[in-house]
Amino acid sequence: MQLVCLDLEGVLVPEIWIEFAQRTGIAELRRTTRDEPDYDKLMKYRLDLLRQHRLGLRDIRAVISGTGPLPGAKEFLDTLRRDFQVIILSDTFYEFAMPLMEQLGMPTLLCHKLQADAAGMLVDYHLRMPNQKMEAVRRFKEIRFKVVAAGDSYNDTAMLAEADAGILFCPPQNVIDEFPNFPVTRNYAELRSEIDKACASF
Ligand SMILES: [Mg+2]
Repeated sequence: MQLVCLDLEGVLVPEIWIEFAQRTGIAELRRTTRDEPDYDKLMKYRLDLLRQHRLGLRDIRAVISGTGPLPGAKEFLDTLRRDFQVIILSDTFYEFAMPLMEQLGMPTLLCHKLQADAAGMLVDYHLRMPNQKMEAVRRFKEIRFKVVAAGDSYNDTAMLAEADAGILFCPPQNVIDEFPNFPVTRNYAELRSEIDKACASF
């Protein structure tokens, strides 16, 4: 039995915080882990900004509903789900991702959760567990699935290494250089072909 695990941002949808920064005009929200490697500091900074701008859950949902999946993502995913069980593993939050999941036909998504107060303002974030992408792949293997995983960036490489086959999708050059063992794909046709190739080899 084969299972395909896909990263979300950069594979099926745009980078959500960047998109959110663009649409709200809050440039400070463009800050990423590249600018602030301490994830906790970065998240508190983001939540503070949202509070300062009085953006609650409903506003966030409205902004994200206005964005969409990457061109061709829905068709790629629909076809893939016809042939394989597919699970999306992401380090984003359900509150951000759900409007996009609706546009993708509600595939299964395992990610993290934000906490809002009674007024809908975000007060905290909760990571279900550290390294959840890699841990999930490990558990799927334990229940005897052969796992193909695909992702675009550094935070996917542990998941790709843990999987029976790992594939990079439109990665930045530094990731290609550092992880030359993973095949690199640059569009959905190439990704699908690598997934098929991996599954045929199991
Ligand atoms: Mg990504």
